Amino acid sequence: MIDSHCHLNVDDYREDLDEVVARARDAGVHGILVPGIGLDSCERALEIAERYPMVRVAVGIHPHEALAWNAAAERRLRAWAERDEVVAIGEIGLDFYRDWCPFDAQRSAYAAQLRLARDLDLPVIIHDRQAHEEVLAGVEAVPGSRGVMHCFSGGPAEAERAVAAGFHLSFTGTLTYGKGKADRVLKRVPPERLLLETDSPYMTPVPHRGERNEPAFVAHVADALSEKLERDRHDVLVSTSRAAAELFGFPPEPAP
Ligand SMILES: [Zn+2]
Repeated sequence: MIDSHCHLNVDDYREDLDEVVARARDAGVHGILVPGIGLDSCERALEIAERYPMVRVAVGIHPHEALAWNAAAERRLRAWAERDEVVAIGEIGLDFYRDWCPFDAQRSAYAAQLRLARDLDLPVIIHDRQAHEEVLAGVEAVPGSRGVMHCFSGGPAEAERAVAAGFHLSFTGTLTYGKGKADRVLKRVPPERLLLETDSPYMTPVPHRGERNEPAFVAHVADALSEKLERDRHDVLVSTSRAAAELFGFPPEPAP
């Protein structure tokens, strides 16, 4: 199993990261992708990847931190992108739900990082909250873009548009909360375009709601996905691991 989006680089894990990673391994997780939010959190993600071979990193400036985007930030992302453990640009995107950062700053950081990823031939990890139209128009404006719409919250038409633009969709513990928009989306997406993620420490799945989320709990996301797709759990694990392998270079099978 791959947890394709997990913020092990936040302070919530400062005290017990070894245990968190060990529990993930025991639960059958063989790859974890840690995305950056701002420059400091990218650096922290890289430190974590040095300690744990199953961890890969995305570097990027999150929409909440978009004011940090400038030429110097771009130079640092380009330098980090040379490293083997850096497999994507992210997380980038637009968040019109919270106005923690001016929308125009978000727009320019998003567009610039989409172009950067294409120049570097890397996939992107996209955060989209109440910004479906502009997020999709952004990737369509940069042909050759690929990557994942993380914690996908759009409807069926938006899902089809994302897939047509070459994107994968990933889902979190929200799948375990009962019926939702995702039910109408999932069967319209080719299974090979679906990824699992926890978005830890957020979006904790049932039966752990109320606790801090962690990558071991991706197993519950896998259960919910196979139930909603009415597909065998093993098939779901194989197809989501293969998708994460193709996109981010994880081994499709657990390392021996
Ligand atoms: Zn995230």
